[in-house]
Amino acid sequence: MAKYNDSKCRLCRREGVKLMIKGDRCHTEKCAFDRRPYAPGQHGRARKKVSDYALQLREKQKVRRIYGVLERQFHTYFTKADSAKGITGHNLLISLERRLDNVVYRLGFASSRQQARQLVRHGLFTLNGRKVNIPSILVRSGDVLEVPEKKRKTEALAHAPQAIARRGLPGWLEIDGPAFRGTVKALPQRDDIQTPINEDLIVELYSK
Ligand code: SF4
Repeated sequence: MAKYNDSKCRLCRREGVKLMIKGDRCHTEKCAFDRRPYAPGQHGRARKKVSDYALQLREKQKVRRIYGVLERQFHTYFTKADSAKGITGHNLLISLERRLDNVVYRLGFASSRQQARQLVRHGLFTLNGRKVNIPSILVRSGDVLEVPEKKRKTEALAHAPQAIARRGLPGWLEIDGPAFRGTVKALPQRDDIQTPINEDLIVELYSK
């Protein structure tokens, strides 16, 4: 399976937006995008005429990178979103938002989605009382995510309250900090996703 092993910060610079891949570092003066907010490479600062296709492609790559999803997986999300009822672009973003690793990140249990994915893989959480280790599980309304008592000392969880204070908690989630418990109050809606994304461009790209 293709895996991206180069600098993660290059991705932000390529997409022209902070993708917040590196967690806490993204909020410090060490952020590479804040220091060099232009595309990487020799011609990074050059002004280029951008075609419609390039815009659509970049938007797709941006969303894929925000959620840390590989190409084939992303295409599967799109296919399902397209065949479901409703607006394809909205369905796509809502599916990505419902991923378990994203929920862990949104609840503040991880500083980045990448770290969230790792914590899920290491079996740190239970979902409705059952141990889970698959980051791509899609949560449903009423699901309860918890950190079992014996795993609550994990270093990564120590900054959860600050993370929530900094990022805010989306309205579709609820957290009980002292109990290390998060609840999915309802499925997310398009308006709950505040990240600047133009999903129409992605739909146009795949519709060619
Ligand atoms: Fe992107 Fe974070 Fe690196 Fe800044 S520190 S460039 S936001 S990954």
